[in-house]
Amino acid sequence: MFVNVILNTSVKQLDRIFTYIVPVDLEQYICIGKRVVVPFSKSNRKEFGIVIDIVNKVDFDAKLAKPILSVVDEKPYIDEFHIKLARWMSKRYICNLSDSLKVMFPPDVNNKDKTIRSSKKDKYVVINENIQDISKYLELAKRSAKRKEILHFIFDMKIVLLADIYSYFNATSATMKWFIENNIIEIKEEIKDRNIYKKYSSEKNSKLVLTSEQENVYDGLKKLLDSNKKQEALLHGVTGSGKTEIYMQIIEYVLKQNKNCMILVPEISLTPQMANRFLSRFGNIVSILHSKLSNGERIDEFARINNGEIQIVIGARSAIFAPLRNIGIIVIDEEHDNSYKSESNPKYDTIEVARRIIEHNKGLLLLGSATPSIQSYYMAKTNKIALFELKKRINDVHPLSIKLVDLIHSSYVDSSRIITKELANEIQRNIDNKEQSIIFLNKRGYGSGIVCQECGNIEKCPNCDVTLTYHHDKNKLLCHYCGYTKNFDNSCSQCHGKMLKTNVLGTQKIELELNKLFPTASIIRIDHDSVQGKDGHIKILNKFKNENIDILIGTQMIAKGHDFPNVTLVGVLNGDMTLYLQDYRVNELTYSLLTQVAGRAGRDKKPGRVLIQTYQPSNEVFESVINNDYIKMYENEINYRKLLIYPPFCDIIQILITSKDEILAEQFSNKFLNVLTNKLSVFIDKEELIIYQPVKAVISRIEKQYRYKIIIKCKYSPDIAVALKEVLVNNNKNFNISVELNATRNI
Ligand code: ADP
Ligand code: ZN
Repeated sequence: MFVNVILNTSVKQLDRIFTYIVPVDLEQYICIGKRVVVPFSKSNRKEFGIVIDIVNKVDFDAKLAKPILSVVDEKPYIDEFHIKLARWMSKRYICNLSDSLKVMFPPDVNNKDKTIRSSKKDKYVVINENIQDISKYLELAKRSAKRKEILHFIFDMKIVLLADIYSYFNATSATMKWFIENNIIEIKEEIKDRNIYKKYSSEKNSKLVLTSEQENVYDGLKKLLDSNKKQEALLHGVTGSGKTEIYMQIIEYVLKQNKNCMILVPEISLTPQMANRFLSRFGNIVSILHSKLSNGERIDEFARINNGEIQIVIGARSAIFAPLRNIGIIVIDEEHDNSYKSESNPKYDTIEVARRIIEHNKGLLLLGSATPSIQSYYMAKTNKIALFELKKRINDVHPLSIKLVDLIHSSYVDSSRIITKELANEIQRNIDNKEQSIIFLNKRGYGSGIVCQECGNIEKCPNCDVTLTYHHDKNKLLCHYCGYTKNFDNSCSQCHGKMLKTNVLGTQKIELELNKLFPTASIIRIDHDSVQGKDGHIKILNKFKNENIDILIGTQMIAKGHDFPNVTLVGVLNGDMTLYLQDYRVNELTYSLLTQVAGRAGRDKKPGRVLIQTYQPSNEVFESVINNDYIKMYENEINYRKLLIYPPFCDIIQILITSKDEILAEQFSNKFLNVLTNKLSVFIDKEELIIYQPVKAVISRIEKQYRYKIIIKCKYSPDIAVALKEVLVNNNKNFNISVELNATRNI
């Protein structure tokens, strides 16, 4: 018996099949999808491989085949379908087959050990089960802010890694002594059930009676499921309209059909509260795959899923590859979220992968969002997938009042012209009323745009209608799609007014200004500098909520997830910042970001106000934001994309070329352009494909590597993929080249 094996390596040259002979005593353990340890190269070093084929004959001298050394898995994690899926991924996303296979295994695949080790002994902090109310302990801790913070954290998490507490709170074992002495926690080494979310499932979350609007959606979804064919649907429903309740009830229905379920959420939404809703309704058939699992925990969870103990998998992006079989439904919540596109190899789009899995299982792919991606809504509108809508919030709170503040014609309260009088007044009002405010700084993306201080005009590329980026070194404006450049002479091309470089504001600077303006207010800041550790942001958000801090200053991190009942004001400092991104999706991004941020206000009994400061109050995207009119935004956007040919009317491939040497990087990019043009000439001649000139990437240098990129617009097809892969493999010796299909960021 022989096996064809894919080695676990990212080396492009080794991206091929190797054949080994199976010793007779191992034959009974071999099957497709299992990992094996094999001797490799002259030195016979041990490598992991994955069996993708079993054959009885080989077309070379059988004596030359080396024997496999051992079989790793008791039960394979993947089957023939997954191997097919991995092949498809490596073609579509242009990466090694082993890269695609690797994501389908629990993490230890990198370990050259023969067997899977269990996790190293992590120490856990476990809260005393009898503690129901935290207030007594907060009083005890009165003198120490650090103790209070840790208390809140432990109280929220129930079980947490000791190492995390050390790193988030800069704590030591001396700090923890107080908690142990006061009987608040225990430190344990072995935890039977290591899943930190388990503790939450105590209270029962019972099924709710659906509203008639929900009922309609539920019935429609049921019909799709009953068809026993692959189906796809989009559920467009504002936040709080009861989407999650529908997910849970339809999942119950799928379970009754004896099929399994998957729910994907963006990592940041995977809070214990969210997980708890599922755990407390469905109990121990649920597995939660979140980024905080240690390797050991992840191996445990994969094993439970693989053994069939699990019927519902909840997780972020990579959970799509969990070894769940017989899948009846995959729910992708907040389907518009960028985190569904992987930024490292394989650079897959989770929705596309889910679609393949659903096709194979003849199940239902359900996409849900309050602000669907243009792509998904377009599919729904053109009847490629079903569309369901929820228009009403369950707890009909007061409608939000959203207002624009014109930055050109306003007076400011600070010399740096960051905060307008109007916004300052509202903040003061909230401080007086002991209500909380969120000050949002839109900081997505890099590069600086240029805006006219007098008319608000943004300089755009005449060819591509995307914002031009300012480059200091040459004092030029540059288009990152087609390479168009223009000298920057400080005057607006529309009104000849004075142009202003949009200063990329920092949260620290804003904190300083707010402290000056509101000296008595309590202010907290959340950004990449202030957040430590993987869940550090949760800690800060908890503090904001629990200690009724007056003002929270934050970036994207505060846009979703938490619920703050006492927040009644959201101030957006620079609502138009996303509009300066050099990206054709700016309106879509601006709409969904602002809608989400606005949704932080007025979630409880008191009505919410939102103030959006902007240089471009007349930009039509703001009209849609103010009126909460997704469809208007969609219609404007789809017309624009059709006219200028952007997705969904084409695909965009970004090719990134990097080198330590700036001149070489540029030279090679030009050479590579020629190679590409030759190789793809068939498609160019048929007008199926356009290649643009190489341009400096948005971030032109990272870690001493100069970056150039080439953009290709086309209707992506397997033929194009094959041609692209060939040129890449043949040209990546001296340069680092990477490819990304329909990336969610402009590299
Ligand atoms: P979404 O996922 O759209 O944000 P949720 O499903 O979380 O909405 O629902 C919002 C709130 O309304 C939750 O607190 C949920 O428990 C509650 N809810 C949802 N459906 C119902 C219902 N049919 N009856 C009563 N409350 C409901
Ligand atoms: Zn252009």
